[in-house]
Amino acid sequence: MFFRVMESSRLPDLVRGFAQDHEVIGPVAKDDRFVFATIDDPAELRLDYDTTLLPPKKLFFPAEDQLMRFRVADNEVLDDEVFAAPRVLFGVHPCDINALLLMDNIFLKDYVDPYYKARRDATLIVGISCVPSEECFCNAWGTDEAHWGFDIFLTDLGDRYFISVRSVKGAELLDDFVETREITDADTADFQRVTAERKEMFAEDLDTSQLPLLLDAKFDSPVWDALGERCLSCGACSMVCPTCYCFDVRDDLAPDQKTGTRSRLWDSCQFSEFSAVAHGQNFRDSRASRVKYRYYHKQWGYLSKFERVLCVGCGRCARACAANITPREVVSALAKGGFE
Ligand code: SF4
Ligand code: SF4
Repeated sequence: MFFRVMESSRLPDLVRGFAQDHEVIGPVAKDDRFVFATIDDPAELRLDYDTTLLPPKKLFFPAEDQLMRFRVADNEVLDDEVFAAPRVLFGVHPCDINALLLMDNIFLKDYVDPYYKARRDATLIVGISCVPSEECFCNAWGTDEAHWGFDIFLTDLGDRYFISVRSVKGAELLDDFVETREITDADTADFQRVTAERKEMFAEDLDTSQLPLLLDAKFDSPVWDALGERCLSCGACSMVCPTCYCFDVRDDLAPDQKTGTRSRLWDSCQFSEFSAVAHGQNFRDSRASRVKYRYYHKQWGYLSKFERVLCVGCGRCARACAANITPREVVSALAKGGFE
């Protein structure tokens, strides 16, 4: 990795440069919130966003994704190619960059998912530093900074950006489109100051150091029953989560019944049908068991396989939950043995 500095006024040039050969996708305002959308004009970019409604996962693992068409008579697959046009995902926060790395473990390791891989390979990631909001607790997992998973990363120093360049492609594009300069000691000092100030902005620290132990010990805790009483099984927490990846597969036949499409759709372990199997059995038919499962999968099961928890502390689930169930509250309740 190496570092450069770019004047803030050059940012629109950088976006316009990327747009010559790529679709540029970045955060834009939508009502009083933000979403990732195609950028037609650099002025649309809102790099001051807190968080987006849906995470960048929707660009790699869409909510509904047609995987193939097929012919019924002979089961012939007619069309299973995925075309991924080159694009730049501009303005991704560290938590969402880290979330994509966690998704990579699922979609690119034991079994390489060609749909996810094609989109991942076609996408350059430009990260941006952020200001923590009230719901953020990425600092609890060490995902408040991104050291990998981007091509270039912009840290806002006010009048200029401190640019971390991680990939050759990122370096080339930066060189092609915008004037940058070598970093000075003053730039480095400002970068360190801004980074340290940001760490002070987080709401109270969430102590997660005991979490795997707590989960081992609290499997039968009344905390889960209390959460089950409140949970609405709406699945919103999973839908907005940058690291939830469960999906359903659905076949739809054409009206003439001769061909059909196979699609992948986001699913949620919080839905009552999620764990239903043949013969009318359901392994998790209570809301308490489903809430519990989500926490055990994220903070225990995934951890045991990949040595990271499957959460980046983005706070989206806390914002989305109509029952006000938040990871911060759940972790605290487990530690204290109940709700206050
Ligand atoms: S569980 Fe909640 S805080 Fe953690 S990554 Fe998912 S949405 Fe973000
Ligand atoms: S968003 Fe809240 S209410 Fe809905 S399933 Fe998740 S925890 Fe339950």
